[in-house]
Amino acid sequence: MEPRHPSTSSDGGQDPVVLVVEDEPSIANMLRVGLSAEGFHVETAESGWDALRTLESGPVDLVVLDVMLPGLDGFETCRRLRDGGWAVPVLMLTVRRRVEDRVRGLELGADDYLTKPFAFDELVARIRALLRRAGRLQGGGTLRAGPVELDPETHRVTRDGVEIRLTPTEFQLLETLLRHPERVFHREALLHRVWGYRSEGDTNVVDVHISHLRRKLGDRDRQLIRTVHGVGYALDPEAP
Ligand code: CA
Repeated sequence: MEPRHPSTSSDGGQDPVVLVVEDEPSIANMLRVGLSAEGFHVETAESGWDALRTLESGPVDLVVLDVMLPGLDGFETCRRLRDGGWAVPVLMLTVRRRVEDRVRGLELGADDYLTKPFAFDELVARIRALLRRAGRLQGGGTLRAGPVELDPETHRVTRDGVEIRLTPTEFQLLETLLRHPERVFHREALLHRVWGYRSEGDTNVVDVHISHLRRKLGDRDRQLIRTVHGVGYALDPEAP
Protein backbone atom coordinates (compact mmCIF):
# COMPACT_ATOMS: atom_id res chain seq x y z
CA MET A 1 0.00 0.00 0.00
CA GLU A 2 1.17 3.54 -0.78
CA PRO A 3 1.84 5.47 2.40
CA ARG A 4 -0.96 7.93 3.04
CA HIS A 5 1.31 9.99 5.24
CA PRO A 6 4.53 10.19 3.23
CA SER A 7 5.43 13.68 4.41
CA THR A 8 5.01 13.06 8.11
CA SER A 9 8.67 13.93 8.80
CA SER A 10 9.67 17.34 10.08
CA ASP A 11 11.47 19.76 7.78
CA GLY A 12 15.25 19.67 7.51
CA GLY A 13 17.16 22.00 9.78
CA GLN A 14 14.95 21.37 12.79
CA ASP A 15 15.57 18.88 15.56
CA PRO A 16 14.22 15.45 14.58
CA VAL A 17 10.95 14.66 16.36
CA VAL A 18 11.01 11.41 18.35
CA LEU A 19 7.76 10.05 19.74
CA VAL A 20 8.33 7.94 22.87
CA VAL A 21 5.46 5.54 23.61
CA GLU A 22 5.86 4.23 27.16
CA ASP A 23 3.36 3.99 30.02
CA GLU A 24 5.96 3.74 32.78
CA PRO A 25 6.52 7.36 33.92
CA SER A 26 10.09 6.87 35.20
CA ILE A 27 11.30 5.37 31.91
CA ALA A 28 9.32 7.81 29.78
CA ASN A 29 10.81 10.68 31.74
CA MET A 30 14.37 9.31 31.54
CA LEU A 31 13.98 8.99 27.77
CA ARG A 32 12.45 12.45 27.42
CA VAL A 33 15.25 14.15 29.36
CA GLY A 34 18.04 12.07 27.83
CA LEU A 35 16.90 12.34 24.21
CA SER A 36 16.25 16.07 24.55
CA ALA A 37 19.84 16.48 25.73
CA GLU A 38 20.95 14.63 22.58
CA GLY A 39 19.25 17.21 20.38
CA PHE A 40 15.94 15.52 19.65
CA HIS A 41 12.53 17.10 20.02
CA VAL A 42 10.68 14.57 22.18
CA GLU A 43 6.94 13.90 22.26
CA THR A 44 5.55 11.32 24.64
CA ALA A 45 2.48 9.07 24.58
CA GLU A 46 1.28 6.79 27.37
CA SER A 47 -0.68 4.36 25.24
CA GLY A 48 -1.01 3.04 21.71
CA TRP A 49 -4.12 5.10 21.04
CA ASP A 50 -2.37 8.18 22.36
CA ALA A 51 0.53 7.44 19.99
CA LEU A 52 -1.74 7.12 16.95
CA ARG A 53 -3.42 10.43 17.85
CA THR A 54 -0.01 12.14 18.16
CA LEU A 55 0.99 10.81 14.72
CA GLU A 56 -2.24 12.25 13.28
CA SER A 57 -1.64 15.65 14.81
CA GLY A 58 1.88 16.54 13.67
CA PRO A 59 5.21 15.55 12.17
CA VAL A 60 7.09 12.65 13.78
CA ASP A 61 10.47 11.41 12.48
CA LEU A 62 10.80 8.25 14.58
CA VAL A 63 8.75 6.25 17.08
CA VAL A 64 10.28 4.53 20.13
CA LEU A 65 7.58 2.01 20.98
CA ASP A 66 7.44 -0.03 24.17
CA VAL A 67 5.90 -3.49 23.72
CA MET A 68 4.30 -3.58 27.17
CA LEU A 69 1.50 -1.04 27.05
CA PRO A 70 -2.00 -1.04 28.52
CA GLY A 71 -4.82 -1.59 26.02
CA LEU A 72 -3.18 -1.85 22.61
CA ASP A 73 0.23 -3.42 23.15
CA GLY A 74 3.26 -2.34 21.14
CA PHE A 75 2.78 -5.06 18.51
CA GLU A 76 -0.82 -4.06 17.86
CA THR A 77 0.08 -0.37 17.85
CA CYS A 78 2.81 -1.05 15.29
CA ARG A 79 0.40 -3.03 13.08
CA ARG A 80 -2.22 -0.25 13.16
CA LEU A 81 0.39 2.39 12.49
CA ARG A 82 1.59 0.55 9.36
CA ASP A 83 -1.99 -0.26 8.28
CA GLY A 84 -2.69 3.46 8.63
CA GLY A 85 0.04 4.11 6.08
CA TRP A 86 2.70 5.70 8.27
CA ALA A 87 6.19 5.05 6.95
CA VAL A 88 7.89 6.51 10.04
CA PRO A 89 10.78 4.37 11.44
CA VAL A 90 9.78 2.35 14.52
CA LEU A 91 12.19 1.14 17.19
CA MET A 92 10.55 -1.33 19.59
CA LEU A 93 11.56 -1.73 23.22
CA THR A 94 10.97 -5.16 24.63
CA VAL A 95 11.64 -6.85 27.96
CA ARG A 96 11.32 -10.21 26.32
CA ARG A 97 14.26 -12.04 24.92
CA ARG A 98 12.24 -14.57 23.00
CA VAL A 99 13.18 -14.75 19.35
CA GLU A 100 9.56 -15.08 18.23
CA ASP A 101 8.70 -11.73 19.84
CA ARG A 102 11.47 -10.00 17.95
CA VAL A 103 10.41 -11.68 14.71
CA ARG A 104 6.81 -10.70 15.37
CA GLY A 105 7.74 -7.06 15.92
CA LEU A 106 9.79 -6.95 12.75
CA GLU A 107 7.05 -8.72 10.77
CA LEU A 108 4.51 -6.18 11.97
CA GLY A 109 6.64 -3.42 10.55
CA ALA A 110 9.10 -2.41 13.27
CA ASP A 111 12.51 -1.42 11.87
CA ASP A 112 14.61 -2.36 14.86
CA TYR A 113 14.24 -3.48 18.46
CA LEU A 114 16.14 -3.13 21.72
CA THR A 115 15.77 -5.33 24.80
CA LYS A 116 15.31 -3.68 28.19
CA PRO A 117 17.41 -2.89 30.13
CA PHE A 118 19.47 -1.15 27.48
CA ALA A 119 22.38 1.26 27.54
CA PHE A 120 21.13 4.75 26.79
CA ASP A 121 23.89 5.37 24.25
CA GLU A 122 22.96 2.23 22.37
CA LEU A 123 19.40 3.55 22.07
CA VAL A 124 20.72 6.87 20.77
CA ALA A 125 23.02 5.11 18.30
CA ARG A 126 20.11 2.99 16.98
CA ILE A 127 17.87 6.06 16.70
CA ARG A 128 20.54 7.96 14.76
CA ALA A 129 21.15 4.96 12.48
CA LEU A 130 17.41 4.61 11.72
CA LEU A 131 17.05 8.34 11.08
CA ARG A 132 20.06 8.33 8.76
CA ARG A 133 18.70 5.31 6.89
CA ALA A 134 15.38 7.09 6.48
CA GLY A 135 17.19 10.25 5.30
CA ARG A 136 15.86 12.20 8.26
CA LEU A 137 19.15 13.10 9.84
CA GLN A 138 21.74 15.37 8.27
CA GLY A 139 25.39 15.66 9.16
CA GLY A 140 25.93 12.29 10.80
CA GLY A 141 29.53 12.68 9.71
CA THR A 142 32.93 12.20 11.22
CA LEU A 143 33.62 13.33 14.79
CA ARG A 144 37.02 14.90 15.46
CA ALA A 145 39.22 15.98 18.34
CA GLY A 146 42.79 16.98 17.66
CA PRO A 147 44.45 14.15 15.69
CA VAL A 148 41.64 11.66 16.43
CA GLU A 149 38.74 10.97 14.05
CA LEU A 150 35.76 8.68 14.56
CA ASP A 151 33.28 7.76 11.84
CA PRO A 152 29.97 6.61 13.40
CA GLU A 153 28.87 5.04 10.08
CA THR A 154 31.86 2.78 9.48
CA HIS A 155 32.94 2.47 13.14
CA ARG A 156 36.42 3.50 12.02
CA VAL A 157 38.72 5.36 14.39
CA THR A 158 42.00 6.93 13.28
CA ARG A 159 44.80 8.96 14.81
CA ASP A 160 46.75 11.05 12.29
CA GLY A 161 45.10 8.90 9.62
CA VAL A 162 46.30 5.61 11.13
CA GLU A 163 43.50 3.19 12.01
CA ILE A 164 43.11 2.25 15.66
CA ARG A 165 41.23 -0.86 16.71
CA LEU A 166 38.85 -0.35 19.62
CA THR A 167 36.53 -2.74 21.40
CA PRO A 168 32.80 -1.89 21.09
CA THR A 169 32.83 -0.49 24.64
CA GLU A 170 35.89 1.67 24.01
CA PHE A 171 34.29 2.88 20.78
CA GLN A 172 31.08 3.85 22.54
CA LEU A 173 32.98 5.59 25.30
CA LEU A 174 35.01 7.61 22.79
CA GLU A 175 31.92 8.45 20.72
CA THR A 176 30.14 9.70 23.85
CA LEU A 177 33.06 11.99 24.73
CA LEU A 178 33.43 13.21 21.12
CA ARG A 179 29.75 14.09 20.82
CA HIS A 180 30.04 16.36 23.85
CA PRO A 181 33.43 18.07 23.55
CA GLU A 182 34.59 19.91 26.66
CA ARG A 183 31.70 18.64 28.74
CA VAL A 184 32.84 17.15 32.03
CA PHE A 185 31.34 13.71 32.50
CA HIS A 186 30.98 12.22 35.96
CA ARG A 187 32.17 8.63 36.11
CA GLU A 188 28.62 7.61 37.07
CA ALA A 189 27.24 9.39 34.00
CA LEU A 190 29.61 7.49 31.71
CA LEU A 191 28.76 4.23 33.44
CA HIS A 192 25.08 4.94 32.97
CA ARG A 193 25.41 5.95 29.32
CA VAL A 194 27.81 3.31 28.08
CA TRP A 195 27.10 0.31 30.29
CA GLY A 196 23.38 0.73 30.85
CA TYR A 197 21.03 2.67 33.02
CA ARG A 198 20.71 -0.11 35.56
CA SER A 199 24.43 -0.51 36.09
CA GLU A 200 25.31 -0.42 39.75
CA GLY A 201 28.02 1.78 41.00
CA ASP A 202 31.45 0.29 40.20
CA THR A 203 33.00 3.23 38.40
CA ASN A 204 36.44 1.57 38.32
CA VAL A 205 35.33 -0.08 35.10
CA VAL A 206 35.14 3.43 33.57
CA ASP A 207 38.67 4.28 34.73
CA VAL A 208 40.00 1.02 33.30
CA HIS A 209 38.43 1.62 29.89
CA ILE A 210 39.55 5.26 29.82
CA SER A 211 43.08 4.08 30.50
CA HIS A 212 42.85 1.56 27.62
CA LEU A 213 41.48 4.27 25.35
CA ARG A 214 44.29 6.68 26.22
CA ARG A 215 46.90 4.01 25.55
CA LYS A 216 45.40 3.06 22.18
CA LEU A 217 44.96 6.70 21.16
CA GLY A 218 48.54 7.56 22.17
CA ASP A 219 47.24 10.07 24.72
CA ARG A 220 50.21 9.71 27.07
CA ASP A 221 50.02 13.24 28.45
CA ARG A 222 46.27 12.98 29.02
CA GLN A 223 45.70 16.06 26.92
CA LEU A 224 42.99 14.55 24.75
CA ILE A 225 41.01 12.87 27.54
CA ARG A 226 41.56 15.03 30.58
CA THR A 227 41.02 13.83 34.14
CA VAL A 228 38.92 16.24 36.14
CA HIS A 229 39.92 15.38 39.67
CA GLY A 230 37.13 14.33 41.98
CA VAL A 231 34.66 14.38 39.10
CA GLY A 232 35.46 12.39 35.98
CA TYR A 233 36.63 13.01 32.43
CA ALA A 234 36.41 15.57 29.67
CA LEU A 235 37.62 15.57 26.10
CA ASP A 236 39.66 18.47 24.77
CA PRO A 237 38.68 19.05 21.12
CA GLU A 238 41.77 21.26 20.61
CA ALA A 239 44.23 18.65 21.88
CA PRO A 240 47.54 18.70 19.97
CA1 CA B 1 5.63 -0.18 29.37
